[in-house]
Amino acid sequence: MVSFVLPEELRLLRDNLRRYVDAEMIPVEMESVDGEEFRPGYRERFQAGMKKLGLWMMDVPEEFGGQGLDLMAKSIVWTELGRTVATPLRDDQMTGPAVRSILYTLEGELKEKYFLPVLRGEKRACFAQTEADAGSDPGAMRTTAVRDGDHYVINGTKRFITGAHKSDFMQLLAATDRSLGSRGGISCFLVDMNTPGVKLGARYETMMGDRPWEIILDNARVPATNLVGGEGKGFSLGQKWLGAGRIKHGARAVGVAERALELATAYAKQRVTFGRPLADRQGVQWSLADIYMDLEVGRMLVWRAASLVDAGEEARVEAYHCKYFCDEMAFRALDACMQIHGGLGLTKDLPIERMWRRQRGDRILEGASEVMRTVIARHVLKKY
Ligand SMILES: Cc1cc2nc3c(=O)[nH]c(=O)nc-3n(C[C@H](O)[C@H](O)[C@H](O)COP(=O)(O)OP(=O)(O)OC[C@H]3O[C@@H](n4cnc5c(N)ncnc54)[C@H](O)[C@@H]3O)c2cc1C
Repeated sequence: MVSFVLPEELRLLRDNLRRYVDAEMIPVEMESVDGEEFRPGYRERFQAGMKKLGLWMMDVPEEFGGQGLDLMAKSIVWTELGRTVATPLRDDQMTGPAVRSILYTLEGELKEKYFLPVLRGEKRACFAQTEADAGSDPGAMRTTAVRDGDHYVINGTKRFITGAHKSDFMQLLAATDRSLGSRGGISCFLVDMNTPGVKLGARYETMMGDRPWEIILDNARVPATNLVGGEGKGFSLGQKWLGAGRIKHGARAVGVAERALELATAYAKQRVTFGRPLADRQGVQWSLADIYMDLEVGRMLVWRAASLVDAGEEARVEAYHCKYFCDEMAFRALDACMQIHGGLGLTKDLPIERMWRRQRGDRILEGASEVMRTVIARHVLKKY
C-alpha cells in the first residue's frame, strides 16, 4: 500500500531529533564550526547527543555493532541535521565513524587492516577520484596503475580530495586500461597515505569553508592485494558509493529548505515596511508558498527513493532525481529567504549566507546538476 504517512517510530525519531537540533545545536550554530572543522569540544558534545538519541553508528549494520537503520530512517536524520549549520558540511562523523560501502566488501587481511580500524574509529579514509582533467567524467582520468610483479605502480595527481590531510589511507581510483575508460578500465585501490611516492600538494580554499587537497602519486608502489573488487571494477564501486550519497544530498537539502522557510516566514511576519508586515504582501506570500511547495515535492522524492532502495530496488534514476531536484530547490529556497531578509540576510550575523554558500557548492559536488539531468534525460529518451 502506498502511504504518505510516516510510521510511528519514524515520527518519534524525527520529533526527538528535531527537539535536540532546536535546543542544542541551533543556539550554538554560529560558533561551533570553523571552516571545515569543529571548534574544540563541539564534536564530542554533539556525538554524545547522537548517542543519547540512539543514532550512534546508525548506518553500520547490526552485525558490526551498529544500529543498521534503513535508508528511510537515515534520510529523516539527514533532513533534521540539514536544518542547522552547527556541523561542518562534509563532516561525516556526527553519527559515528564514516565507513564507505566499499570497505564492507573487504575480507581477510584487508578487512583487518582497513575495514575494522575504520569501524572502530581508529583510522580514516578519503575518496580520491577527481583529477584536473577528470571531474564529471572520471572515465577520462590520467592516473595510471601498472602491474609490476606483486605490486601496482601508480602515477598521477588527484584534485579536490576532502580530508586527505587527516586520512590514514585513500580509496583511490586509477586507470588500469586507459583505452577502456569507465567501461572496465578503472580500478579501485586502498593506498596508505604514508606510501613512499604519495604526498599532499596544493590545498584549495572554497566559499563553503571546505579545504580539499591535491594528492600526488609519483611511482607509488601498492601491493596488488590492495586492489578492491578486481581490475576494471573501480568505476562501478565508486558509483555505488556516490549513488548512496545522492539520496543523502536530497535528504539534507530538504532540511536546508525547511530551515530557510522557517527563517523567511518568521522574519516576514515580524518585519514591517510601508506600514505593514512583509507577510501581508502578496509578492512575499507567493515566495513563501513556492518554497513550501518545492520543499514538500523534494521531501516526497526523498521518501520515494529511500523507500524503493529499502524495498531492494536499485532506484538509480530516482536517486539522480533526488539530488538534482532537492539541491536546486534548497538553493532557490535560501536565495528567496535571503531576499526576504534584505540587507540582514547578507550579514554574517545570521546563518543564511553560510547556508547559501554551502548549498551553492552542493549543486556541483558529487555530481553537477547538469550531469544529473543528462542521466535523467537518457532514461527519459529510453522510456518514452
Ligand atoms: C569542496 C570540494 C570537495 C570535493 N571532495 C572530493 C573528494 O573527496 N573526492 C573526489 O574524488 N572529488 C572531490 N571533489 C570533486 C568534485 O566532485 C568535482 O569538482 C565535481 O564532480 C565536478 O567536477 P569538476 O570540478 O571537474 O567540473 P567539470 O567536470 O569540469 O564540469 C564543470 C561544469 O561543466 C558542466 N558540465 C559537466 N559535464 C557536463 C555535461 N555532460 N553536460 C552539461 N554540462 C556539463 C557542469 O555545470 C559542471 O559544473 C570535491 C570538490 C570540491 C570543490
